[in-house]
Amino acid sequence: MDDLIARIVGALWPLIYLTAAITLPVLLALDSQRNPMTTPCRSCRAPKPPRMYLCGNCWGALPTPARRALSRHDSKAFARLRELHRQLDADVPVAEVQVTP
Ligand SMILES: [Zn+2]
Repeated sequence: MDDLIARIVGALWPLIYLTAAITLPVLLALDSQRNPMTTPCRSCRAPKPPRMYLCGNCWGALPTPARRALSRHDSKAFARLRELHRQLDADVPVAEVQVTP
């Protein structure tokens, strides 16, 4: 009897594994749509919207010139973002971040 149960479980295991392999990514995708606050803020690690550079608190703490510069969408936008990341990674306080145009 134990052998029969072991054989049934053994035969079903690939099916269970396949079901989980298909179901889990679908559930994770549905969850990220429902709750888009999934990426951590580079400064404080609090959840932030995926398309924002920082969480609301850290964004608000940036000096106004840096915030203005980071809001511009031009050919140097990516260079400014890298400048922000470099300073945050070097533990520069958010209120002291300077982003050159
Ligand atoms: Zn933050």
